[in-house]
Amino acid sequence: MKKKINIQLMTIAVISIVTTLLMAVGISRDLFWNQIFEDLKTYTRLICYTGILEDTPRLKEKFFQEDLRITLIDREGKVVFESYTDASRMENHKDRPEVQEAFSMGEGMAVRKSSTIRKSSFYYALRMEDGKVIRVSQEADSMWKIFSDALPVMGITLAILIFLCLLVSRFLTASLLKPIKQIAENMDKLGEPNTYEELTPFIATIQKQHEDILKNAGMRQEFTANVSHELKTPLTSISGYSELIENGMATSEDVVRFAREIHRNSNRLLTLINDVIRLSELDTAEREETFETIDLYEIAATCVDMLQINAEKNQVTLELRGSSCLVRSEKQMLEELVYNLCDNAIRYNNKDGRVVVTVQIQGGKTVLIVEDTGIGIPKEHQERIFERFYRVDKSRSKSTGGTGLGLAIVKHIVARNHARISLESRVGEGTRIMVVFEGEG
Ligand code: ATP
Ligand code: MG
Repeated sequence: MKKKINIQLMTIAVISIVTTLLMAVGISRDLFWNQIFEDLKTYTRLICYTGILEDTPRLKEKFFQEDLRITLIDREGKVVFESYTDASRMENHKDRPEVQEAFSMGEGMAVRKSSTIRKSSFYYALRMEDGKVIRVSQEADSMWKIFSDALPVMGITLAILIFLCLLVSRFLTASLLKPIKQIAENMDKLGEPNTYEELTPFIATIQKQHEDILKNAGMRQEFTANVSHELKTPLTSISGYSELIENGMATSEDVVRFAREIHRNSNRLLTLINDVIRLSELDTAEREETFETIDLYEIAATCVDMLQINAEKNQVTLELRGSSCLVRSEKQMLEELVYNLCDNAIRYNNKDGRVVVTVQIQGGKTVLIVEDTGIGIPKEHQERIFERFYRVDKSRSKSTGGTGLGLAIVKHIVARNHARISLESRVGEGTRIMVVFEGEG
């Protein structure tokens, strides 16, 4: 951009300098020629009015081989007098343009090249009362000479001007681009008012992206740290128990207990790793090509069946309501969605609690509601439970084998389906989570 602006400024400068110089040369040429012809006219008049023409010998004597050359031509074009040389040796002058012009119009002018390129001959011819034509001519520096004489000065002037323009254009370009450069160097201070209001929308976009990038990087880092931490705990247990067995420090009853612990912790690791993989799968934005029309009620029924044993174990009743409702989605995603919500509703419930799953059309849209009479979620945690690894009560979640990734997966699935999720919860009373599917019902 800098180079481009620089080149454009320089092009404008060079074009204007060269045109100005050429125009100056042209104007001075016209002035110079006019001056010469004015002079010639005056001389001619003077010669005519002083009557010196009558006295040709004196005229010859005074003007012989002088700069000013006087010629007298009669009606036939014959040269009757010539101050520079002998008139008898001159050819007929009728065809000379200035003479022709003088015969027909009264006066005529012409410029002709001289013997050298550096000189020009200027002619002025005037028809006198007696019908003869008097022609006065003078040699002067030709345009070419004037131009070539001026060339060195013009060249130096041009060079100096171009150099100055170069400096100015550099300065201008730098000062034009300075604010942009400053913005680029200080991404953190983008909020400050900038010199060019035209840039404001760009800066806003860049700022937003910049913040998103920083936020994402922070989130990714936090996620990695969390995953590592979550992996460490079960692995430490597995390592500890197996070491005890290896060293023969466990009785045969212990061995069974330790094996159970190792088994439980390995399962925990597997769940965790599966959840992490699933999250990253959902993160990489796939297109919706794999979407098909699915009956959400059917999916919910399968899930409820699958979780029934779990519910019984927790002494919770699990019930499905509603009717067949179609959505465009992916089977696996819908299964995970319903499973995770029901699993939470059972897990964070009380003895003799209830879970009701409803699939129905509401306002023309398919809706999934999972309600429980469980422990509820305190207001201050409600926003955050969809974050990865966020658990309200760490010990309760862990003791039931939770990884804290369930609702993060739910959030991703909801986003991928362009659905909306809402939560209502009261501590000690229960929780109600509703997912509304946009589009066809
Ligand atoms: P995972 O689902 O990965 O096995 P998790 O259940 O702990 O583990 P999430 O499903 O993401 O993780 O839930 C996050 C937290 O939100 C839970 O730890 C729990 O504290 C709280 N929570 C979720 N659903 C309910 C609910 N229905 N009632 C009360 N608390 C809930
Ligand atoms: Mg869960």
